[in-house]
Amino acid sequence: MEEANLGYQPSYGADSITADACESFRQFFETDCEVFFVFNGTSANSLSLASLCQSYHSVICSDVSHVETDECGAPEFFSNGSKLLLAKTSLGKLDPIDVERLITHRTDLHYPRPRALSLSQSTELGTTYQPGEITALCQIAKKHGLHVHMDGARFFNALAALGTTPAELTWKAGVDVLCCGGTKLGMAVTEAVVFFNHDLARDFEYRCKQAGQLCSKMRFISAQWLRILKDETWKKHAASANQLARQLAEGLTQLPGVEILYPVDANAVFAQLPETMKSGLKERGWVFYNFIGGGSRLMCSWATTAADVEAFLADARESH
Ligand SMILES: *Cc1c(COP(=O)(O)O)cnc(C)c1O
Repeated sequence: MEEANLGYQPSYGADSITADACESFRQFFETDCEVFFVFNGTSANSLSLASLCQSYHSVICSDVSHVETDECGAPEFFSNGSKLLLAKTSLGKLDPIDVERLITHRTDLHYPRPRALSLSQSTELGTTYQPGEITALCQIAKKHGLHVHMDGARFFNALAALGTTPAELTWKAGVDVLCCGGTKLGMAVTEAVVFFNHDLARDFEYRCKQAGQLCSKMRFISAQWLRILKDETWKKHAASANQLARQLAEGLTQLPGVEILYPVDANAVFAQLPETMKSGLKERGWVFYNFIGGGSRLMCSWATTAADVEAFLADARESH
């Protein structure tokens, strides 16, 4: 960002740093994708879903998805009313049978026509979809003429955990648009909307501008992407967070009365903690709360250290 601050650059994304950052995305995904930068995940999800749907369409998503539970109705607002239809999930992942049931159980004019499938990678419960699971969901979607949206606020954590290529986890599996999270990877105010399907990206820059998501000094956003994609910096950040989450879960499992609720596939640990432990940890300054999915949600980030995890576990043991 300091380097991007030196000298003159054109505004609104017409600068050379933005061009380089978009090119880095194309190399990263090994395809000619279209890339847009916005300020946060809510706008990335809402604006991209709006570009997949008309107002009379519907979006199939998980009942615990961020678009349903944590975006204050923004997907419906920006799409002028596309309805979210909630599918059953298992461990935060969409159940393919229920997805197909939702798509096919009504075909009449009186029901909002399913037009998009939205899945989160990694999921809101800290689990990840295997590439084959994504392919299977995309095949159901495509069979019925639906586009596929991936909420990748924690995409890099999933990618680091699965060890597949970015392409295999997205367009090769059938994903049309990916909202790629920057903030949770350690960047300041940025998420990338990556369209693998060019037709769906048409006029997307107008949506961004109208929604107040077009950054005039875009080079400060682009500079961050350029560096995080280079030299696998993203992987260092994401893999470290994942590794520490596993250590945290392993440490907590040793303590009586603690139950780990979901597989720790990425950087989130959901744990049922005894009440005394919860209050003891909070008295010692730890900040956490019960989240969707139940239990205490403990996140390891790009900035978490092994010492942080040790300190948390020591305090947990003491407050037992
Ligand atoms: C954090 C998060 C987002 C983005 O939220 P913003 O606060 O709008 O940036 C989107 N989806 C998921 C699954 C998230 O965890």
